[in-house]
Amino acid sequence: MSAECRVRRIPSALSTQHSLLLIMTNKRKRHIAILGSTGSIGTQALDVIRSNRDKFEVEVLTAQDNADLLIKQAIEFLPNCVVITNEKQYDKVFSILDPVGVKVYSGEKSLASVVQMETIDMVLTALMGYSGLLPTIKAIEAGKHIALANKETLVVAGELITKLANEKRVFILPVDSEHSAIFQCLSGEEGNPVEKIILTASGGPFRGKKAEQLKYVTKADALKHPNWSMGAKITIDSASMMNKGLEVIEAKWLFNLNASQIEVVIHPQSIIHSMVQFLDGSIKAQLGLPDMKLPIQYALAFPKRLKSDFPRMNFRDFNSLTFEEPDTETFRNLKLAYHAMEKGGNVPCIMNAANEIAVQEFLNDNVSFLEIPEIIEECMVKVPFIAKPSYEDYVKTDKETRKIAQERLKL
Ligand code: NDP
Ligand code: MG
Repeated sequence: MSAECRVRRIPSALSTQHSLLLIMTNKRKRHIAILGSTGSIGTQALDVIRSNRDKFEVEVLTAQDNADLLIKQAIEFLPNCVVITNEKQYDKVFSILDPVGVKVYSGEKSLASVVQMETIDMVLTALMGYSGLLPTIKAIEAGKHIALANKETLVVAGELITKLANEKRVFILPVDSEHSAIFQCLSGEEGNPVEKIILTASGGPFRGKKAEQLKYVTKADALKHPNWSMGAKITIDSASMMNKGLEVIEAKWLFNLNASQIEVVIHPQSIIHSMVQFLDGSIKAQLGLPDMKLPIQYALAFPKRLKSDFPRMNFRDFNSLTFEEPDTETFRNLKLAYHAMEKGGNVPCIMNAANEIAVQEFLNDNVSFLEIPEIIEECMVKVPFIAKPSYEDYVKTDKETRKIAQERLKL
């Protein structure tokens, strides 16, 4: 596979980059749809927009259950419409937002249709898990640029998504801090092949522990991330190293790399967000305090950098930046993710669905921490392999995997 990078190829569609720049410089605001506005990424995106009201307009806000926060956000930002996917909450949201002129929709299908609204320039996908896939496909089909937080979409269907994005000449701009770091390091390197990328990982709350010590850890232990405050699912993924596994696959599709070009290193301080090594051996890194607002803002405003008042890093506060080899014997998920990526086809989709069920059941106190990789591995063996999956195959694979994982839990 060529070492040429996808993000360098997509921006080279100069007309697209030019049109994005025009939106930011011609005083026309960039119109944003935020899928998952009540979550960790969604609320931080609204913080960024609140500080840059002259640059952005909110077109769409969405939530699954959190009607109260969605209503509060809509009253502040007055979007064109909101979607509450839990239909039971529709009446409550409608009764408050209809009188202020905000359209209200409910149900998962509405997510897939609102992203195609004429007025939207960019969709920030900050939904949790597999639920992001269909709305992302629909948004790209309608020619919307994507600020991608929802990494599971690329894990499940990276080939389909990147092909579609190339056809429609839309940007997929990474929000994940590691991928934003790599994207920023690649800026100005058009035509310079990448030797490898180095994804940094904090190691999570259980860094240095062995399986024996992880037997009885609780969800409260796993939810205590040392450096980042995030939604529950990604926090458990960080503790189990599945988050880094998902990010390895996300990087493959965003930057058009093969497995041997993607390295993971544990960096407990989370100051270096990731690195790129070029053919001459030179390494570029992007650094900063762990704060998701920066990569969110970079994606929303791309290709411009906006002035911010985010806390600045002082090197004197960090006299020791350290690096370790990941322990893939204890944290088997990272190994499983490399295996899924190398097998390709529907295997990453199987891995993702099994992980979503395992994490949900860990959060429900129905499985132990060490059972998470066991459930995933079992599903990867049992669900039939499809080498060249269509969208329908992904839907089928996801459904079948969830069923198998649930059946195993009943035993
Ligand atoms: P949260 O759980 O905090 O928020 C998820 C958002 O999506 C909420 O608005 C939630 O609504 C909504 N939602 C959840 N499930 C569904 C569903 N099935 N259908 C429709 N809407 C749904 O997650 P995060 O913000 O932490 O993460 C979002 C995505 O961004 C994930 O893919 C994650 O991996 C990725 N990401 C997150 C980072 C972070 O720092 N948080 C960093 C890098 C990537 P409600 O509030 O009503 O439940
Ligand atoms: Mg990340």
